[in-house]
Amino acid sequence: GGVGTATGKRVLLAEPRGYCAGVDRAVETVEKALEKHGAPIYVRKEIVHNRHVVETLEDQGVIFVDETDEVPEGSLLVFSAHGVSPAVHDAAASRSLRTIDATCPLVTKVHQEAKRFARDDYDILLIGHEGHEEVEGTAGEAPNHVQLVDGPDSVDRVTVRDEAKVIWLSQTTLSVDETMQTVARLREKFPTLQDPPSDDICYATQNRQVAVKAMAPECDLVIVVGSKNSSNSVRLVEVALGAGARASYLVDYAREIDTTWFDGCQTVGLTSGASVPEVLVRGVIDLLAEHGFADVQPVTTANETLVFSLPRELRGSRT
Ligand code: SF4
Repeated sequence: GGVGTATGKRVLLAEPRGYCAGVDRAVETVEKALEKHGAPIYVRKEIVHNRHVVETLEDQGVIFVDETDEVPEGSLLVFSAHGVSPAVHDAAASRSLRTIDATCPLVTKVHQEAKRFARDDYDILLIGHEGHEEVEGTAGEAPNHVQLVDGPDSVDRVTVRDEAKVIWLSQTTLSVDETMQTVARLREKFPTLQDPPSDDICYATQNRQVAVKAMAPECDLVIVVGSKNSSNSVRLVEVALGAGARASYLVDYAREIDTTWFDGCQTVGLTSGASVPEVLVRGVIDLLAEHGFADVQPVTTANETLVFSLPRELRGSRT
């Protein structure tokens, strides 16, 4: 920069950010189901936790419901990326609903682990956030074996039947660091606690946190694009603050940004949660440019290439 320009003001843009393979598949599942079957189609819960995605699909004739009993008999119902318990599948079957399951395969993997360890009569300590749809679905695979552990401070309340048969599993979208603290506390209490057969916190959650950690120490402000009910997006704000960003905020849209946040800032970090379409990030980049932050530098910590095939019912129609 030189005299008369906004000297040194820059944006660090996290890479990877935004859509993960599971969200991409879930959104495309609904779009393809609409194309193939026509409106209305029903989706149980938000297909992914993003306001823009949900509102866009609503405009196209998708009806979001909380429970299967709100869906007219015989209709087409899509299950969201977060997964559902066997009880929900049963409820849909008893109403003769046609269903398409958009559960992310990485969530299904955790369901399989819960089933397997329940079959072997383990106590399963599921680390996750109380009330989140994903943990409701996972816990529902083995309600008599699963206890929810919502962060390090809830470890004190955990009791098990046999300390030799205890395993922890987790929600896919947690903070990696906080989860490790919870596991350490659990292991103090139960030294023979077993680890999951593979990471439950998914690659996309981990990669987005790593990218934010890399840029946060240099940032006066980190803006995370994402919805308030998006677990992985909320975690990105926490990770940014934990890694040294002076401030960090979660916004659904550029218009929610209070431009006084830019006062005194030289470096603004920008990222987005796994359920966030890139167009919303573009909106923030444009706003930043209007305020002198036109120099955008990517901070790349991983390259993602994973793609999941569509649910069986819709295969052959992937574009
Ligand atoms: Fe799947 Fe991870 Fe994306 Fe969730 S955040 S949909 S678990 S890839």
